[in-house]
Amino acid sequence: MSNSLDPTVRRALANRIKYYNDLGIYDFYRRPADGVDAAQAGEKARASDPGSALRLIREDIGDCTRCRLHKQGRKQIVFGVGNPQAELMFIGEAPGADEDEQGEPFVGRAGQLLNNMIKAMGLRREDVYIANIIKCRPPGNRTPERDECETCSPFLMRQIEVIGPKAIVALGAVAAKTLLAINAPMAELRGRWYDFRGTKLAVTYHPAFLLRDPRQKKEAWKDLQMVMKELGLKAPEKSPE
Ligand code: URA
Repeated sequence: MSNSLDPTVRRALANRIKYYNDLGIYDFYRRPADGVDAAQAGEKARASDPGSALRLIREDIGDCTRCRLHKQGRKQIVFGVGNPQAELMFIGEAPGADEDEQGEPFVGRAGQLLNNMIKAMGLRREDVYIANIIKCRPPGNRTPERDECETCSPFLMRQIEVIGPKAIVALGAVAAKTLLAINAPMAELRGRWYDFRGTKLAVTYHPAFLLRDPRQKKEAWKDLQMVMKELGLKAPEKSPE
């Protein structure tokens, strides 16, 4: 890449970076140029396989202090779990108390329901990849703030790029709105496919919401059947409990 940047552009960039620094934002990620982002291409080249590439991303995160959540009681970073070459990825909101304790996404009650949903699709938990928009537990399980999502989600983007799933399921409004940059009610967001950086993305209800309102399980099951059809999975006859 040429380093002879026009001085006016250089000054404008420096001012913009200082503006973001003043807001507490220090990490910047470029959108893909010419089809492949250089950092991600490097990631793939440096790592011999997706599992190693994921480990490199985890190393980059380190003992993260990029947002306020590191000093608000999180015990550990919850990176993501599953098959590094999964065809299907589930993306939730943020770790809760159980996930913070165990360092793995969706291991609490909502996780049990997600496991049942995966099973009902004819898959095992270890076949898919599960992650969240943010990797640290917000205090009291509050909804993640926008700046926390913006700071953390670039690492998720790199995980998605490395795994290269055929389909992504966004679980709940925070995941859907962060990934799609659309502000709409869940009922409007679900039930159709979106294009997410060249990957098919579907939205469905968050398992924690389904625990509170089990009548919506039928609707969630319709969303999962749409995903199964896309992936060529055989629909079991009975919907999940
Ligand atoms: N809810 C989420 O969104 N993610 C988890 O990992 C657990 C509960």
